[in-house]
Amino acid sequence: MSTQNPVFIPGPTNIPENLRRAVDYPTIDHRSASFVEMLQPILAGVRRVLKSGTAETIIFPSTGTGGWEAAITNTLSPGDKLLAGRYGMFSHRWIDLCQRHKLDVQIVEAEWGRGAPVEDYERILRADTNHEIKAVLACHNETATGVKSDIAGVRRALDAAGHPALLLVDGVSSIASMDFRMDEWSVDIAITGSQKGFMLPAGLAIVCLSPKAVAAMETASCPRCFFDFRDMLKTNASGGFPYTPPVNLLRGLQVAIGMLEEEGLENVFARHNRIAEGVRRAVAAWGLSLCAKEPGLYSDTVSTVVVPDGMDGTKVVTHAAEKYGVAFGVGLGELAGKVFRIGHLGSMTDVMALSGIATAEMVMADLGFPITLGSGVAAAQDYYRSSTNGADEKPVLRAVQ
Ligand SMILES: *Cc1c(COP(=O)(O)O)cnc(C)c1O
Repeated sequence: MSTQNPVFIPGPTNIPENLRRAVDYPTIDHRSASFVEMLQPILAGVRRVLKSGTAETIIFPSTGTGGWEAAITNTLSPGDKLLAGRYGMFSHRWIDLCQRHKLDVQIVEAEWGRGAPVEDYERILRADTNHEIKAVLACHNETATGVKSDIAGVRRALDAAGHPALLLVDGVSSIASMDFRMDEWSVDIAITGSQKGFMLPAGLAIVCLSPKAVAAMETASCPRCFFDFRDMLKTNASGGFPYTPPVNLLRGLQVAIGMLEEEGLENVFARHNRIAEGVRRAVAAWGLSLCAKEPGLYSDTVSTVVVPDGMDGTKVVTHAAEKYGVAFGVGLGELAGKVFRIGHLGSMTDVMALSGIATAEMVMADLGFPITLGSGVAAAQDYYRSSTNGADEKPVLRAVQ
């Protein structure tokens, strides 16, 4: 693998040079005033990225998976009933985690390539007149399938049923790259990690809580200690942490939020959409299709490309790494071998995306796929030449380096 080439895995993402420098910082005393001064603006910045005015923000030294665990153990009790759709590897893993915590998950199976089954959710919630379901889980952006779910729709389903269940949302591969509206969608807990839209190394679980989630924490009886929201909220209030905070990564997060806001959040989302659309045009020009079943489901952070019958998607990934030093994502779970994934989130530009598209073409040609070299690149070039640079047409390179 070359360290010169960008990666095209859907997280960890490429790390911009100034974020690499931001985490390279001398040790400070985390019990000193300098840490107190550093923490509050970071928590407020995360809140702005999630478009929330009121959410409590908690940051654990962990990853997105730790955020899942924190979300459920702090708001639920063993035996509580949950409603969750399974439509990819990440929604599957979250369900598995809940089951291992002895929660009773009602699983709605959906085709991999479709999003959260909003209509099924509504039907089940309406039937649950005793309000036994305590929480609804949804994965906003299924990184395995490249599918975006309609979280506003899940909220509407809860409201239409007049159901008080908490809405817990995995936003690990969407937040800070795709529009996420914590308050507007009345999300009770939103979860992400540092290594996706925030463009940092892995190591932070970022969890945002509505007032309803904060209230649920008082009665939840799932065991938790390291991930106890109560300890974190209490110590954060005076600027501290219940244990050693990951100061260097937090500093990186502060700089990452600054970069996102300098580019402008809407421009960041528009950039991701434009880059993704170029990749999608390339896939179409190759004569291939996406795992996502329809345009409304297309993710702007990862494209899951279905390989032709008889071809092996995993070989695309291993050959790209071995021959060209470029990383793509393999198919996960039931998609293993059937797809490969192009991650295009975080620190990414049109020009970087073109290099990934060109590499994928060389790999597929090497492996005997029936594609024409240059076809996808040309389709993406045409699109990038004719499209604008985001909401207010700022230079596209702003987010990088
Ligand atoms: C990456 C990812 C996770 C897991 O996060 P980790 O940081 O690897 O624990 C969870 N959900 C989604 C949608 C992801 O993309």
